[in-house]
Amino acid sequence: ATPTAIMVGTGLGAQRGVLFKNALALETSARVQVVVMDKTGTLTKGEPAVTDVITGDGAGEGELLRLVAAVERESEHPLAEAIVRHAEDRGLDVPAARRFENVPGHGAIADVGGHRVVVGNRRLLDREGIELGSLAAHRDELANTGHTAIVAAVDGVAAGVIGIADAPRETSVAAVTALHDLGIEVVMLTGDNQATAERIARELGIDTVIAEVLPGDKAAKVAESQREGRSVAMVGDGVNDAPALAQADVGIAIGAGTDVAIETADVVLMRSDPLDVPTALRIGRGTVRKMR
Ligand code: ADP
Ligand code: MG
Repeated sequence: ATPTAIMVGTGLGAQRGVLFKNALALETSARVQVVVMDKTGTLTKGEPAVTDVITGDGAGEGELLRLVAAVERESEHPLAEAIVRHAEDRGLDVPAARRFENVPGHGAIADVGGHRVVVGNRRLLDREGIELGSLAAHRDELANTGHTAIVAAVDGVAAGVIGIADAPRETSVAAVTALHDLGIEVVMLTGDNQATAERIARELGIDTVIAEVLPGDKAAKVAESQREGRSVAMVGDGVNDAPALAQADVGIAIGAGTDVAIETADVVLMRSDPLDVPTALRIGRGTVRKMR
C-alpha cells in the first residue's frame, strides 16, 4: 500500500470513529467476504432485562427469584446481572449462596439455604440429569419469541423459567443490509440457544446462524468459516470473543466492549455502531483501489 493511501484511509476511518490499528488492518478489510457477528452486545444492545418469570405448579415467583438471584449474584455474566437487578427491583431480599460453581456456556450452580440451585440453559439441565417437564413448553415459547430462556432447578427438580430480552441495536438491520449490498455473507455466532438466535437473526435479515457455541469454541467456528481460503471478519465485544477476533482475518471490536476484545482486534468501532462495520470495509476497499 502506498503510505498516502494508508494515511487517507486511516484518516477517513478516524473521522467516523473507525480505528484501524495498522496498515494491514486496512488492506485486509478490503478483501473480506464473510462477516461473523457475535449476537449479545454486538448485534444487540447487551442490556438484558428480565421480562418473564414462570414457575412450576404452586411455587411463588418471588421465592424462585430469591433462590436464582442468590446464585447469580456470585456470577459476572450479563444475564446473571439482569436477574439480580430484577430481584432487587422487586424488593426481594436475596439470601447468601455457598459452594458457587460457574459453568461457562451453561450457567451456574450453588447452595442456597440448604437447597441445591441450578440456573442456566437446557444443556446445563441435561448435564445435571434434570427433566424440564411441563416447563418445556414455556421455555420453547420464550425462545421462539427471541427471548433467552434461563431455567432453574431446585434440589434436582425443574422449578421455573426466566425470560430475558436484549433488544437489537437500532442500526443492526441497516448494517446487515449494507453488508449484503457489498456482496458479503453475514453470519451470527452466539452461545445462546438455537431458537432464540434464529428468531433474532430472522428479524435482522441474517441467513446463517451458528448457535449454542461454547465460549472456547468460537475461534474454531471462525476457522471453519475461513474454509476454501475465504476471508473472514469477526465482530465482537466480549472476553470470550477475543480468541475468535484473533483467529479472523480482520478482528473488529465494539468500542463499548471489553478491554481484551479491544486489545485483540485489528479495528475498533468507537461509536459501537454496527453500521460502522460496512463503513470499515468500504474504507478498506477504497484504500486498496487507490493503491493500484
Ligand atoms: P454469549 O455468546 O451469548 O455471550 P455465553 O457463552 O456467555 O454466551 O452463554 C451462553 C448461554 O449459557 C447463555 O445464553 C445462557 O443460556 C447460559 N449461561 C451462561 N452463564 C449463565 C449464567 N450465569 N446464568 C444463566 N445462564 C447462563
Ligand atoms: Mg457479546
